Amino acid sequence: MKRHLDGHKDLTTSVDVNHSIDPNDVWVPIASGPSDMTVCVEIGSEVKIGTKLAERNNHFYLPVFSPVSGTVTEEKKMLAGDGRLHNHLHIVNNHKNESAQAFQPLDYTKASREELLDFVKNAGVLGLGGAGFPTYVKYTKVDGIEMLVINAVECEPFLTADYKAMEENMDDLKLGVLALGKLSKAAKVVLAIKENKKAMIAKLKETFAGTNVEIKAVPDVYPMGYERTLAYQLTKKNYDRLPSEIGLIINNANTAIALGKALVTGMPITHKYVTVSGDAVKNPQTMYAPVGTTSGELLKVAGGVKDGIEDVLLINGGPMMGRVVPNDQWTISQSTNGVTVMKHVKVDAVNCLRCGACVDHCPMGLEPVRIADEHKVVDYAHLVKLRAMDCIECGLCTYVCPSKIDVTEKMRRAKTFVGAKMKAAQTAKGGK
Ligand code: SF4
Ligand code: SF4
Repeated sequence: MKRHLDGHKDLTTSVDVNHSIDPNDVWVPIASGPSDMTVCVEIGSEVKIGTKLAERNNHFYLPVFSPVSGTVTEEKKMLAGDGRLHNHLHIVNNHKNESAQAFQPLDYTKASREELLDFVKNAGVLGLGGAGFPTYVKYTKVDGIEMLVINAVECEPFLTADYKAMEENMDDLKLGVLALGKLSKAAKVVLAIKENKKAMIAKLKETFAGTNVEIKAVPDVYPMGYERTLAYQLTKKNYDRLPSEIGLIINNANTAIALGKALVTGMPITHKYVTVSGDAVKNPQTMYAPVGTTSGELLKVAGGVKDGIEDVLLINGGPMMGRVVPNDQWTISQSTNGVTVMKHVKVDAVNCLRCGACVDHCPMGLEPVRIADEHKVVDYAHLVKLRAMDCIECGLCTYVCPSKIDVTEKMRRAKTFVGAKMKAAQTAKGGK
């Protein structure tokens, strides 16, 4: 079952995007996935906005570019939004905003599909909906792809980063969606957005009139923006690992905007729309911030925490699927969408009532209460049978639990346990 949640989006929907973010220094993440990247600049060198800083050279090639002009001073492990330490490049901003065109713009209508694919790869376009996966990989093999879905649902409470980005970049969005449509070779292109976004739906219909892009309003329920939920909503089909199994490619609207911008300007992703909101933030707003800005810097711009609130939860992302990070020094990456700051109200959980609400609401059809049972989280076979690894960590089971049990956290622990066991089994078999 999916559920309507109070989105609290009114806190930032009508507030202008703050384009004034210009921190004195940035820490640009140069790790992507498990592997570190090869640094392309010397420590001490001067860089401009758009200078290539690092690249990952394995089969998921990905370059990273400088978001500011200034001096590269060091490579260091810093806290990232996943709560872990990763390699970052420190750049002291000279505030001159000098830029260097990173690559040649491209007319996608004249380019061959292969040229366009190469462009997407070398421009470092990646999934901006949270996954951070290099976009070109999804389009390398498109046999059997029937539908390209542009996901503009943004179902996480408080976040309006996609909405504000679309509002400000309608032309880039159109260009990016049409270019992705060409890459996908799909007969159908659908842009999905929540049905309650009436003004935006009208604007999108006007923008895409005369194209093959259908604007599809989907129900305002959570987690409609999650890929599996959206895929099912549009096709009534489920998939096992990847949407391509049912003929779909799904990309976030912000990814299409980034591609549209790159095609026109020859510039990569250097800045990110990030919503800084939550019930503890003084002046909630969406900001257009250089990648590598710390979350604390953004929170400061938003006026900090409201007076009288002492204990807060600082979340990378939204309150449902986001990750609580221990302090505000973590860095904004290309895929960060929100910094959510919530009052931390300590609630004492009571015993499970066996009410079944978590089971009724789980969008993956799991039995969270059985998986989360303290006695079962160390029972590998039991957890595999109950499909613990299918949990998408959407947070609904915690949200609906009348006993105030953090069921999702228990699910995470169960997944970590199963994941470690699986890895150990693979290693024992001689795999990596
Ligand atoms: S967090 Fe996992 S177990 Fe809980 S409702 Fe979401 S998918 Fe189901
Ligand atoms: S919702 Fe909470 S109380 Fe109800 S069965 Fe699930 S864990 Fe137990």
